[in-house]
Formats: sequence, C-alpha cells, structure tokens
Amino acid sequence: MSLVVMKFGGTSVEDPAAIGRTAAIVAGRVSMGKQPVVVVSAMAKVTDQLLRAAAAAAQGDRTGALAISSRLRSRHLDTACHLVKAPADIAALTRNIDEKFNALDEVLRGLAAILELTPRISDLIVSYGERISSRIVAAAFREQGIDAAHVDAREVIVTDSQFQKAIPQDAIIERRAHEKLLPLTAQGKVPVMGGFIASNEAGLTTTLGRGGSDFTGALVGGAVSAEAIEIWTDVDGIMTADPRICPDALRVKVISFEEAAELAYFGAKVLHPATILPAVKKNIPVLVLNSRNASCEGTRIISLAPHCNSPFKSISVKKKLSIIDVVASRMLMTHGYLRQIFEIFDKYQCPVDMVSTSEVSVSLTVDSNEKLPAIVSDLKNLADVKLEGKKALVCLVGEDIRGQQGIAAQVFNAVRHVNVRMISQGASEINMSFMIEEDDADEALRSLHAAFFKSPDPAIFDVEARKQL
Ligand code: ADP
Ligand code: ASP
Ligand code: MG
Repeated sequence: MSLVVMKFGGTSVEDPAAIGRTAAIVAGRVSMGKQPVVVVSAMAKVTDQLLRAAAAAAQGDRTGALAISSRLRSRHLDTACHLVKAPADIAALTRNIDEKFNALDEVLRGLAAILELTPRISDLIVSYGERISSRIVAAAFREQGIDAAHVDAREVIVTDSQFQKAIPQDAIIERRAHEKLLPLTAQGKVPVMGGFIASNEAGLTTTLGRGGSDFTGALVGGAVSAEAIEIWTDVDGIMTADPRICPDALRVKVISFEEAAELAYFGAKVLHPATILPAVKKNIPVLVLNSRNASCEGTRIISLAPHCNSPFKSISVKKKLSIIDVVASRMLMTHGYLRQIFEIFDKYQCPVDMVSTSEVSVSLTVDSNEKLPAIVSDLKNLADVKLEGKKALVCLVGEDIRGQQGIAAQVFNAVRHVNVRMISQGASEINMSFMIEEDDADEALRSLHAAFFKSPDPAIFDVEARKQL
C-alpha cells in the first residue's frame, strides 16, 4: 500500500480558491495510485480569532465574543456555499456548521457568565476551527469527485490531559489509526481529519499546542507507517531563512531529520518542533511543499542528507525570549547549586533553551511566559535574580559546525554591529546559536544570510530560483 499523509496548513484551506487547489493536489496523488490520508488546519487566522473570542468572553464582553463568532460563522458558511453545490450535501454541511457555531456560542455565553478561562475550556473553544474546516474540506473533496470520508481527529489522536500542549499516547494512536483510518483507505476512500485537536482518554478535547497540525500529520504518518508525510504550506519548502524577513532566502532541497528538528525547535515556524519525532521513529521521509506552487519539488527531510559544501543549511530566529541572570557570589559552583536552580524550572514545567555560567552567575534563556514572575520569585530564595525580556535567539544550523575552523569568527564578524548576549556552540555538532535584542534580530538575520549564502552549494540549495530573480 502506498499510503501518504498530506497535511494542509491554514493558508492552504483559507478560502474557496485555496481549498480548490488543495482538492486538485489530493486528486493528483490519487491518480498516481497513492492512498492519501488528509489532515487539515483551521482556515487561516481562525485559531487566533477563536482565542480572541475566548479572551473577550472571559472578560465579560459577551457581545464582543459573540460578534467574533458570528463573523466566523459567516466566513465558514460562505466558503461552504462556494464549494458545495449538490443540494443534499450543502444542506447537511450548513446544518453541521450551524450546529457547531450554536454550540460554540453556548460555551462563550457560559464563559462570559463565569469569567474564568481554563486551559480545558480554551482547547474546547479553539477545537471548533479544525472541527469545522475538516468538514468543509471533506465535502469540497466529494464535490470534486474525491471519495472523501470525514474522521473526527479526537477519535484517533489520544493524548494525556495537559490541555493546550497535550502529549500524544503513541500506542493508542497507532491502534485507533488502524481501526478508524485503514478500513477507509482499504476501500479506496480518502480520510479527512482536523490537525491540532485531540482528546484525552476520558474523551475531553485537548490540543497539541500552536502550529500542532504538522505534529498530527506526523503522528498519523507514523501510526499507519506511511511512505511519506507531506506538509503543504505557503512557501516552497524549508528556506535558508524565513522568507518574510529575508526575501532572497533560497529553498533547501534536502536536509536531515536532525537539522530540521533543530531549526523547528529554534523558531522556524514552517514546522512544529515535534513533527520530526514520529518520522524519525519509523524513518519516514517528510516533504515540505507549497500548495500555491504544487509543481515545486519542495524540501525533502530524510535521515541522512548528502554532504553540503556550504557551512550552514538555514538560519532561524526565535523571538519573545527572556534571559534570567542568577547571581550568587558565594554559592555558585558549589555542589548541588545548579540542581536547585533547575528544580525550580522543572516545578513550573518551563523548558530552558540555553544556559551559560560564569564564576558567580548563571544565565538561562526561556520563552517569555506567564510563569516567569513565579519562577523569579522562587529563584530569589537562592540568589539575586535579574529578568530581561525582549530577547531573540539566532540559530545557525548545518552539518559538522564544530569541525569547521574559524566559523565562529566569520559569524560574529557578520553581526559585529550587534550586541551579542549569550553564545552556545559545541553542545551540538549541527547548531550554533546566540542571544541578541529582539529589535536587532531581523537585521542580524539578513546580515548573516548575506554573508553565508553568497555562493550556495547547488546540490543542496535551489540556486536556479535565485538566477531567475
Ligand atoms: P501553515 O499554516 O501552513 O502551517 P505556517 O505559517 O505555520 O504555515 O508556516 C509557514 C511560514 O513559516 C512561512 O510563511 C514562513 O514565513 C515561516 N518560516 C519561518 N522560517 C522559515 C524557513 N526557514 N523556511 C520556510 N518558512 C519559514
Ligand atoms: N490551527 C492551529 C494553530 O493555528 C494549528 C495549526 O495551524 O497547525 O495553531
Ligand atoms: Mg504551521
């Protein structure tokens, strides 16, 4: 069986034209003899708007929350009516969309009364984005002659109960995928399910964290041992830098699992950081492709990428970070001291991105998050603490960085006009990163890109595209 999981992001299902392109791409795979399993995100920006509606309701702004919901209802109904013409199908679809929005409005009214937004309610509210988009896409596919069957993702993707960043239960997902998806593909049907959303074992709705539809795609791919996991988005693949910041970024043709995971973790939004894990477990290639430019071959992420003559494959930037400086002149480097510091981060389940130590201080970088005041207050029991926000981490990824003589000098020469706060090199062979002010980040990225992608290796990068500019 040539099963392929095809995940389409928000921009690939943002309006009738985008859904039409997506249908054509899936029909193309079917005509090649492939058996697709389709995973879709909410329509572009819908998750943000649902979160805004939830926040408004939680502040008692019932009218504002319901107004957002009403606009979303119209957008989804308009899209459905554009795409689905068969009278019985559009009647069933609009009924379904109305029922979902009625239920969402009930939740928002309740929230405006109790004024407390818990992670569990937040997940329930945002889940409507994918629950509705997947219904519309399945119906649109059927209209285009694809034998699509809608599957509720919450029946397949089972997680623990950490709402908003739930951890998937791989063994249950594998069993459910075999029960719910494979009988459909065996009949030649194309299952269509929402990404990002899941449920815990008690059946309550959970989510995999922002951008989590990529992760759903990979989890499904792993569970059914797909021959490939395709991530369809709005750029030609993984690029040498975020093309929104660096317009002359080049497409990376091929990259290793390890390198892609590092880029995703350190801010390349094109992939959710956990996407690579299920693929690595079963050695399934991941392809990043452009639904607006389907003939482009995209980026192939595989276990062993061919040798690259350029020092780096790509540069990512992760913003909204904070540095915590813990200064204790007497205690530092005494036995057990670092353990005490890390126990505090552990207590608040707060991941640390980078650590550097001096004789009297430890500096740690973390995502700016709402737990920071409590973390700082606990740390103050151990030492003097200073918290600085608005930082960014620049991360250069490439093969064997450690083995390249003089590379650090070249990097810091390229950003010599920028104040560098913390540096990490050597912990990983494939990553070199440093912290700067968030306001300097875009400029630093462009300078590094100009310095390191002047004559890129044509075996790895799409240099033809640059020539055509
Ligand atoms: P989707 O909705 O399809 O999941 P996302 O918006 O989550 O799409 O991810 C795609 C975006 O990721 C691109 O539009 C681009 O701006 C951004 N991005 C950041 N870093 C990179 C990179 N190195 N290569 C490609 N895209 C990147
Ligand atoms: N819709 C979700 C989000 O915006 C998941 C995703 O798009 O991957 O975060
Ligand atoms: Mg995404």
